[in-house]
Amino acid sequence: MFRVDLDSLIVAYLVILLGGLALVWIAAEIFQRGRDKRRRKNFVICSICEHTFEDTSGKELVSCPGCGALNERDAIHEI
Ligand SMILES: [Zn+2]
Repeated sequence: MFRVDLDSLIVAYLVILLGGLALVWIAAEIFQRGRDKRRRKNFVICSICEHTFEDTSGKELVSCPGCGALNERDAIHEI
């Protein structure tokens, strides 16, 4: 059995605790970005009336429910 003084024990505890929190934070960030990317993929902004709607069909041309115009699916960028 090896001897560990109190200072080393506290440092090891803090390293493990902060490392675990960093891993959870990174995993949550990756999950959030994936979810936002999937969500933005389904949203379409009409180029005629600027109506924003969700379309999960996956078609490249989608019809606007507001004015009926056909719109190409583009990626929506955050401002
Ligand atoms: Zn429209």
